[in-house]
Amino acid sequence: MLRLRSTERETREEGIDVATAEPANLVSYCGLYCNACGIRQERIKTAVNNLRNIVAHYGFDKAMPELVKWEPSFKHYNEFDDVMNGLITLFGDCPGCLQGGGDPNCKVRSCAKQKGYRTCAECNEAERCEPLAPYRKGYKGLAPALQCIRENGIESYAEGVQKKVDSGYSYVEERK
Ligand code: SF4
Ligand code: SF4
Repeated sequence: MLRLRSTERETREEGIDVATAEPANLVSYCGLYCNACGIRQERIKTAVNNLRNIVAHYGFDKAMPELVKWEPSFKHYNEFDDVMNGLITLFGDCPGCLQGGGDPNCKVRSCAKQKGYRTCAECNEAERCEPLAPYRKGYKGLAPALQCIRENGIESYAEGVQKKVDSGYSYVEERK
């Protein structure tokens, strides 16, 4: 069984203020780095607000009853606007995995917590288990990330990804 250094095990979820958290506290149970996630980076909220702003700039939001003569789908504009609100409500931001963000029923998080692991890097099943399968498939950087945590420790891994994030990196670009 793989074990991380004791200091890494101490970075548990109690009372972490993610706004000022050390990078290591933003490493999720699966090994992904919360600050690199497009949802935590508010990419969806920003995109929705950008769309709303430009639609309002041209006055299209107020003119829908008139515009529907040329584009029938505009009769659904209010429902569309509700959906945009829903996107922001559900995916507008995220407090981070250790603070309960992400899928509330995440099998990876519950499995790792139940086994007493800080991350899946500690687990011998990481290359084949079922809970992690969608993330192994969806994030080509996940296996190297777990390997990096094993070899260099969670702090070094987190600081490395945070540097990339500071330069604009996001999983949005990386996801297959
Ligand atoms: S909720 Fe699950 S999949 Fe999402 S970051 Fe946390 S452990 Fe990973
Ligand atoms: S079985 Fe999979 S999800 Fe569970 S701790 Fe191990 S690697 Fe993580």
